[in-house]
Amino acid sequence: MREKIVAGNWKMNKDWDQGLSLVQEIQKIMSVEESNGAKVVIAPPYIHLAKISDMVTSSDWLYVAAQNCHQESAGAYTGEISASMIKSIGVEYVILGHSERRAYFDESHELLARKVKAVLDQGLIPIFWCGEPLPIREANQQSSFVNQQLSDSLFQLSAEYIRGLVIAYEPIWAIGTGRTASSAQAQEMHASIRQHLSGQFGKEIAEQIPILYGGSCKPANAVEIFAGPDVDGGLIGGASLSANDFMAIVRSL
Ligand code: PEP
Repeated sequence: MREKIVAGNWKMNKDWDQGLSLVQEIQKIMSVEESNGAKVVIAPPYIHLAKISDMVTSSDWLYVAAQNCHQESAGAYTGEISASMIKSIGVEYVILGHSERRAYFDESHELLARKVKAVLDQGLIPIFWCGEPLPIREANQQSSFVNQQLSDSLFQLSAEYIRGLVIAYEPIWAIGTGRTASSAQAQEMHASIRQHLSGQFGKEIAEQIPILYGGSCKPANAVEIFAGPDVDGGLIGGASLSANDFMAIVRSL
C-alpha cells in the first residue's frame, strides 16, 4: 500500500503567532476526527520549523517539511540552511524544486539533483516537485517535459536511495490560478510519471512512491482530483492557510 499524503505549503505566509495558531487549529480539528490513514505534512516558513516540529512530536499523522534547503552540508553560505540542520530539529520532509524556486531563484535540474542527494543523505524525505508551464501543455508535450525534469534530477541515484522519495506533480498553469487539472488529466500525468520511474528504478519501487497532485486544489474539487488510482494525495498552497479548508481536503482523501 502506498502512503497517502496531504502537504500544505504555506510559502512566505504567516508570522510567528499566525503560524502557531494555524497549527493549533489543525490539531484541534484532528483531535475530534479519526485519521483516515493519510499523513498530513505542514511546510511553514523556516522561522516556525523548530517550534512546530516540537508541537507535533506526539502525533502519528502530523509531520513537518522545510520548503527548501541548501545542497552543501555546512559552510559560508549566508542566509541558507542545510539538510543536517533541518534534521537536527526533528523535521522529516523537505520540498525541493517548487516552480517558484526554479523561476525566482534559478534552481536548475543539476542543482536540484545535488539538493535531492543532500536531503536523502540525511535520511530526510524529499518532496520533489515537477510540472509543466502552459505553453508546454498547449503543445501536448507535458509528459516528455516532466520526464526530463525527473531524469535530470533523480536518475543519478540508485533505486534503493530513491525508495524514500515523494513526488509532487503540479501543472504550473494551475498554481494559484483557480484553474485545475481535471481528474483525468491528473491521473494521466501521474501514471506517466510512475511509468517513467518504473523504467529507471523498477516496478516495485515505482509502485511505492507517493505522487501528490497540486494546483488550486480546494475542498470543492479535492474529491474529484484525488479519484485517480495514481493520485496519492495533494500538495496544497493557498487552501493550506485555512485550517478548515486544509482539513476538508485531508478528509477528501
Ligand atoms: C503550490 O504552489 O504548491 C500550490 C499547489 O499552490 P495553490 O494550491 O495555491 O495552487
